[in-house]
Amino acid sequence: MKIIELIKKPWFFGVLTCIVAIVVFWNIPIEKREYGLSQSNLTTDYTGLLPERIESVIRSENRLHLQKIVREANESGHHISIAGLQHSQGGHTYYKDGIVLDMRTFNKVLEIDEQAKTIRVEAGATWEDVQEAITPYGLALKVTQSQSIFTIGGSLSVNAHGRDIRFGSMAETVKEMTLLTPTGEIKTVSRDDSEAWMKYVIGGYGLFGVILDVTLELAENEIYTIHTEKLNTADYESYFANLIDDTNTAMHYARVSVAPNTFLDEMYVIDYNYTGKQDDETSLKGEKGVRLSKLALDLGRQGGVLEDLFWKSQKLYIDSIDGNEITRNNAMRSESTFMEFTKHGRVEVLQEFFVPVHSYEEYISDLKQLISPNDKDDDFKVHNITVRYAAEDSHTSLSYANEDMFGLVILIEHGLAEEEIANATSRIQEWTSLTTKHGGTYYLPYYRYQTKEQFRDTYPEWESFLDEKLRRDPNEIFQNLFYDYYIK
Ligand SMILES: Cc1cc2nc3c(=O)[nH]c(=O)nc-3n(C[C@H](O)[C@H](O)[C@H](O)COP(=O)(O)OP(=O)(O)OC[C@H]3O[C@@H](n4cnc5c(N)ncnc54)[C@H](O)[C@@H]3O)c2cc1C
Repeated sequence: MKIIELIKKPWFFGVLTCIVAIVVFWNIPIEKREYGLSQSNLTTDYTGLLPERIESVIRSENRLHLQKIVREANESGHHISIAGLQHSQGGHTYYKDGIVLDMRTFNKVLEIDEQAKTIRVEAGATWEDVQEAITPYGLALKVTQSQSIFTIGGSLSVNAHGRDIRFGSMAETVKEMTLLTPTGEIKTVSRDDSEAWMKYVIGGYGLFGVILDVTLELAENEIYTIHTEKLNTADYESYFANLIDDTNTAMHYARVSVAPNTFLDEMYVIDYNYTGKQDDETSLKGEKGVRLSKLALDLGRQGGVLEDLFWKSQKLYIDSIDGNEITRNNAMRSESTFMEFTKHGRVEVLQEFFVPVHSYEEYISDLKQLISPNDKDDDFKVHNITVRYAAEDSHTSLSYANEDMFGLVILIEHGLAEEEIANATSRIQEWTSLTTKHGGTYYLPYYRYQTKEQFRDTYPEWESFLDEKLRRDPNEIFQNLFYDYYIK
């Protein structure tokens, strides 16, 4: 049969289309964005928005060596910053011409106490390292981010939060820690310590010394049933009130539609409900379906009808997992590779806005006036809004949750030309003003689009934070670009 005749056959055309689709699918590049301590002699963090020259990077596995560096800096006037995995996005891990302590080599698990349900671990270890160590004991973390890719020190220094709705803030799960103070002492500090070091170190953005190791309280590695449901944004407050009252649910998060047809009107929720069963057998899950998730997200990134399609596909997905069982450890290690974004001339950043739980509905309705439902042709694009609960936290000094809050994590893409960054900056500043008008705050580990005045209005405790900084670190040894921009 001649090739031309073959092509005309419907079955042949179908097979060919399938082959092409499979080839395209397998060739979707899973890029890794380039960032970190050695980018063409300039250091950056996750967004690459603040490249800076630093003097040196120190990788040490020895606490006495770190102590020597801090003591010498007090003599020489050198500045020190501390880096974990540098997923913070506002220059929190480095400073112009400074020394960076790269904590990733400081990552040993020191002790697991099965009876007391605690782990003592060095601060450069990741949540993944901890999960690997505790899963065989049937133990799990109490509070962590939605992914397990961050270091313990980096997570505590931003007082991170995730999907757990029962154990309060991350700060509350720390029993004690070993701290290398700014004046070079190594001391063990605990929650009831009269010197209140923890209040400043946790959520202290690396400005109050080096966390060397931490003793964390753990929970049982329970098995949960996943419950998913679609609802209208207007019903979410009452849905959540029932959820928190009936104590059947251990973990929860939600997603709001940013697709044009259902923009900020539709949501879906994912709850992890208690089953009463424990687990010490299931292994930790790896990343699955990366190409498929990336393909779906890339379609959504195009905006317009493709974003509507993406939202529909997400709803189909949550239907498909309704009723499944999952261990606590596996619910705390969401996929992250599919989110990588490396388009030339553009950047994807995160912002997070916290609003009091009771203000959510009015906030969303005001937000509709501020953000365009269809950003297909805009430079400033909102690709995702996830909602999590952040319980009131009075344990840290720059607390983002002075009452029970919903945190709205926003994934934003914008261009890198000067006017595009300026446009994104002004849009995010407006969004911040709307948030604070509703009694909300914004999360500080991300890029500082906000003005210094917005920071100071949102976090009036900044003055006592600074007083304590100067009292505990009189030579201002620990510095970073976050401190430089907002606080000094
Ligand atoms: C894709 C993505 C998803 C995210 N999801 C969440 C989420 O679900 N919830 C959430 O709360 N946050 C989230 N974040 C923010 C993230 O939790 C913070 O950026 C966190 O700090 C990252 O940990 P890291 O190890 O990369 O810390 P780094 O960025 O390296 O450091 C963060 C801060 O901690 C300080 N620090 C690091 N190690 C030490 C130490 N040993 N002693 C003292 N100070 C130290 C640094 O100086 C810096 O100020 C997310 C970020 C990204 C990029």
